[in-house]
Amino acid sequence: MALTKAARERNERRTVRRIFTMTLIARTPVSRNTTRFTFTAAEFADFEALGPDEFFALIIPVPGRDLPPLPAVDEDIREIINTIPEDVRPEVRWYTVRAHRPALAEIDVDIVLHGDSGPASRWATDAEPGDVIGFRESSAPYIAPEGGRQLLVADETALPALAAILEQTPAGLDTVVMAEVPGPEDIPAIATDVEIAWFHRGDADPGSALLPALEAVVTPHLSALSYAWLCGERALATGSRRWLVEAGFDPDQIMFSGYWRLGQARG
Ligand SMILES: Cc1cc2nc3c(=O)[nH]c(=O)nc-3n(C[C@H](O)[C@H](O)[C@H](O)COP(=O)(O)OP(=O)(O)OC[C@H]3O[C@@H](n4cnc5c(N)ncnc54)[C@H](O)[C@@H]3O)c2cc1C
Repeated sequence: MALTKAARERNERRTVRRIFTMTLIARTPVSRNTTRFTFTAAEFADFEALGPDEFFALIIPVPGRDLPPLPAVDEDIREIINTIPEDVRPEVRWYTVRAHRPALAEIDVDIVLHGDSGPASRWATDAEPGDVIGFRESSAPYIAPEGGRQLLVADETALPALAAILEQTPAGLDTVVMAEVPGPEDIPAIATDVEIAWFHRGDADPGSALLPALEAVVTPHLSALSYAWLCGERALATGSRRWLVEAGFDPDQIMFSGYWRLGQARG
């Protein structure tokens, strides 16, 4: 993940990263491939998101086992996990806080279900209200530019973050949005007036529908562009970044993250 300087400075405000458990209270379909999971935990009453694409570490118990005791705060979640005996060692994956309701001490997390090939999707596919899972605070990579025009590029795993960014985009900030999903059934409702250019890749590799369209869609906006946020499968995020840099855009104004890796676990 590569953050802009402004986002790094903002994220330094969070000096303590809490770890706690949360309880699933509801699951609601969002689109063909995505389900909304609503969780509650007392800590969500005073949790403060640093930005619209706030993400967290989901700490997933070994199937059929409870989470082992975890410290209340951490510096390095990986180090902590690696000290836990293997038979109860949880897995960690990263997700976005799609919505936060402090008064109810709740959050929503929109999870793309892709079968049982990874621990997060496996847990989410089988999860029922009452199930308990771990949450560790992290940070938020997006930061709105002070002016100019922003480019937002996302795939289905980055749609929760994209939707939150669009909901909180300051009025008057020019925004160009490109999003790639497998098909039209995977498009969730997003409350925004900003036009989204959708690309459908079907069964082809991530990025194969959107990347070839960058030139036609983005070139007319390049001279006004002040910031780019590029998130999704690694080929989509790095391919978009490469195109922008080769087109002359300032790499320091790009935030990009490979949210998942085709054929590989994203630990
Ligand atoms: C900052 C950040 C925020 C994120 N926010 C969200 C979010 O809000 N919602 C969300 O759904 N995801 C989100 N992701 C992506 C999510 O963390 C990855 O998809 C992760 O790999 C899922 O873990 P897993 O255990 O299911 O699969 P892994 O164990 O990581 O991978 C196992 C296999 O599944 C494949 N795989 C992983 N993800 C997908 C997918 N989406 N579609 C098809 N195949 C896949 C891998 O290529 C691999 O072959 C985010 C990632 C980051 C870094």
